[in-house]
Amino acid sequence: MNAETAPPTSLVPDMPATGTEARQQHADISERILRYNEAYYIQDEPLVPDAQYDALFNRLIELEARYPTLKKNSPTQNVGAAPADGFAKIKHARPMLSLANAFSREDIVDFLARIRRFLNIGASSPVDLVGEPKIDGLSLSLRYENRVLVSAATRGDGTEGEDVTANVAHIADIPKHLSDDAPDILEVRGEVYMARSDFQRLNQTQAETGGKTFANPRNAAAGSLRQLDPAISAKRPLRFFAYSFGELSESLAETHWDFITKIGGWGFVTNPHTTLLHTADDIMAFYDEMANQRADLDYDIDGIVYKVNHFELQLRLGFVSRSPRWAIAHKFPAEQAKTRLLAIEIQVGRTGALTPVARLEPVTVGGVVVSNATLHNRDEIERLGVRIGDLVTVQRAGDVIPQILDFIPEERPADSVPYQFPDTCPKCGSHAIREEGEVVTRCSGGLICPAQAVERLKHFVSRNAFDIEGMGGKHIEAFFDLGWVTSPADIFRLEDSHSDELVKLEGWGPKSAENLFASINERRTIPLDRFIYALGIRQIGQATARLLARHYGSLAQWRQAILDARNPDGEALRDLINIDQIGPGVAHDLIEFMAEDHNRDVLDDLQSVLIIEDVSPPVTVESPVTGKTVVFTGKLDLFSRNEAKVKAEQLGAKVAGSISAKTDYLVAGPGAGSKLKKAEELGVTVLDEQGWLDLIAP
Ligand code: NAD
Repeated sequence: MNAETAPPTSLVPDMPATGTEARQQHADISERILRYNEAYYIQDEPLVPDAQYDALFNRLIELEARYPTLKKNSPTQNVGAAPADGFAKIKHARPMLSLANAFSREDIVDFLARIRRFLNIGASSPVDLVGEPKIDGLSLSLRYENRVLVSAATRGDGTEGEDVTANVAHIADIPKHLSDDAPDILEVRGEVYMARSDFQRLNQTQAETGGKTFANPRNAAAGSLRQLDPAISAKRPLRFFAYSFGELSESLAETHWDFITKIGGWGFVTNPHTTLLHTADDIMAFYDEMANQRADLDYDIDGIVYKVNHFELQLRLGFVSRSPRWAIAHKFPAEQAKTRLLAIEIQVGRTGALTPVARLEPVTVGGVVVSNATLHNRDEIERLGVRIGDLVTVQRAGDVIPQILDFIPEERPADSVPYQFPDTCPKCGSHAIREEGEVVTRCSGGLICPAQAVERLKHFVSRNAFDIEGMGGKHIEAFFDLGWVTSPADIFRLEDSHSDELVKLEGWGPKSAENLFASINERRTIPLDRFIYALGIRQIGQATARLLARHYGSLAQWRQAILDARNPDGEALRDLINIDQIGPGVAHDLIEFMAEDHNRDVLDDLQSVLIIEDVSPPVTVESPVTGKTVVFTGKLDLFSRNEAKVKAEQLGAKVAGSISAKTDYLVAGPGAGSKLKKAEELGVTVLDEQGWLDLIAP
């Protein structure tokens, strides 16, 4: 999570009062959830803490309970995210689902009552459950044919997963052959995870060797298994707990408990805490016991899963859209601990943002040692009212960066003083400015600020940008201090300019230098979208970079168009702002970037050492709206705005955010205002929702 932008607390809006507001809120949250899903499931780099994600997801469920039509196309109906590009896909013989969540004891009581109601059995008849720790990793389906492992697939979107067969070859917990008494077809499912001790070691090695470090064991496990190069997975310490099955050629047991025992006999590792539970009291006691043990386990668990034990009852209970009715995940609250705030340090990011970071007396929070926490920005320090020396509560919620929740007033040292946020950059001494309406205070030093320069270079080589293996943050800092790499193109000149000196540098030798140059050379050809993202322009994340690359196609056209967009009345600016999801703020940052001579010099310099590949627009189909520009406005009843947009784009139309002379259609629902007026002035064809559906009907 980017500490510059992370929200300080969970931000779930108030419950809407009207249906229209509910629809709007549902659309807004759905859009966020889809973005978070992509970051979490595909990039393995969550944007927000799990607790915040869960709170938003829960709001969708609440809204859908009141307005059931919102369920259509809602993220609540889907599992995970579609398999990532690059992997072969495997269709699951039986879907891999998610689990419904419970957050309190009442939720569990409700769950038990629902089961009894559904099965029409009285409160006194027993329904046995099996309780298992909910391992915080990622699920995997293993298929054995004639007792030989033939494939391994991630969950993906539940229907299709990523083929990671080659990547599990080195996971010792996964048997590759089964004994003769195993059935001809057997799919065993379970969780791939990384032990906390292995995670700490991996992160340490990664930091030392310039590799990517991971926010938590779950991301490390997912990032390690979901590698396109199996050789990388092989080096990562992954483990596996088996807990369920997919396709079977014969029935194995009558109960989940017996199934678990049976597969244990075939060499699968099952969780030793798995317990048979008979009564509601057993359930609550098991939860408490695991909550107590949680911090001492060598792996992260984020709750308990309860499963109805008898398969016959499971079969009768069946499924709701994305989860079985016979199981539930009882989530643990976020893990917390108390420790002293030793200092507040200011980090300077690549865009000059000054981010305060709390240095803490190291404390174990849920089995992981925490010594830093984010304080986000000046306002957050004021809101919390914390001072150096305070005893603070730190929270880690399967998350990314630990957070400070509060401090204990009684424990405040007598001589403590309120923290003064600096008004100059601690790295270069330039003024630190907070622009009106912004939460972030920024160093005004620009290029003269070494911290910004180094952060930009780090961003340039990072995973989603140039992804130069073996060139991590520490190396960038060292090469910058030596004066070898001060601008991005220097990276591609390093072999010619400093290879003799590099091999003599501590920690380097001929082999490691050769490897580094090989990975640099591998990146001399790069697609335009990655290139734009790597430049680290303010507000230009991966998604926006992709939009720009698709819209302009080539570096030359993009450069020229952004330069031309300086003219406030020109077509280039209108065209830029007309790209859906690009607003005046983003346009302004792009124009500012391109207006600077030194940035254009950096581009020229990079062009002299790289091949930047054009990006072609997405393949379009022939339809009545192919090549047309459409704007949607007002309240839409027949479909969500997101659905309308996706559909329009699938049909080859361009969806824009504002009306211009280039707009072909305005689809206006009730309540359309200024856009409708402007469309009428410009003579743009205006349609209502039905008119649009008629137009695109085959
Ligand atoms: P889930 O994690 O709530 O539950 C289902 C998963 O639990 C299964 O797929 C399986 O992988 C796992 N599991 C672990 N132990 C198990 C056991 N003993 N038996 C059965 N399953 C077991 O559901 P999900 O769909 O994987 O993910 C949703 C959760 O992921 C959210 O609640 C959220 O916490 C997190 N998430 C976070 C973000 C974010 O941005 N922070 C984004 C997406 C999802």
